[in-house]
Amino acid sequence: MAFYEQDVGIHIDEQKLQARVRELGAQITRDYQGKELTLICVLKGSAFFAMDLARYVDLPLTIEFLGVSSYQGGTETTGEVRITTDVSKPMAGKHLLVIEDIIDTGLTMSFLLENLRARHPASLKVCSLLEKPSRARTQVPIDYKGFVIDDVFVVGYGLDYAERYRNLPFIGLMKGK
Ligand code: 5GP
Ligand code: MG
Ligand code: MG
Repeated sequence: MAFYEQDVGIHIDEQKLQARVRELGAQITRDYQGKELTLICVLKGSAFFAMDLARYVDLPLTIEFLGVSSYQGGTETTGEVRITTDVSKPMAGKHLLVIEDIIDTGLTMSFLLENLRARHPASLKVCSLLEKPSRARTQVPIDYKGFVIDDVFVVGYGLDYAERYRNLPFIGLMKGK
């Protein structure tokens, strides 16, 4: 029995996940033809998604990492966002695509968009693997969206529960949450 099986069930399996990430990569490839793209991987949750997505984008691109902290452990957002690791270069004049794991209340993304917009990029778009529209507290435009999910707490493929389960290759559901 795999280490997670007692606590986590499969919600979106690896095959479905990879097929969708590949489609998003193809769409981004078409949309950014002739442009130099900068992917902003929001740590830690989007790391797995962003690295897979980058491999499906057939364009020269740059990857930057932005660390934010909006969760103090557990499953409820505090609404308070803090940058813990900033990108390595000025973002002025760049075509930025922010890569997120999930947009839940939208508070993290709206903070990030405001913060990045103030750096005067050439363009600023959002790509999120998951969206939980039922929990939205602020409207954020999602230019590239993997899957819409119900109000359930998911783990795996970068998403954690108390820092665990990020390494699962699928999106899972915590049993009994
Ligand atoms: P927000 O509520 O600001 O849109 O989302 C903030 C962060 O909460 C997300 O980037 C993600 O790290 C975390 N989060 C929201 N929903 C879930 C979920 O279902 N599972 C996990 N593991 N994290 C979540
Ligand atoms: Mg996140
Ligand atoms: Mg988390």
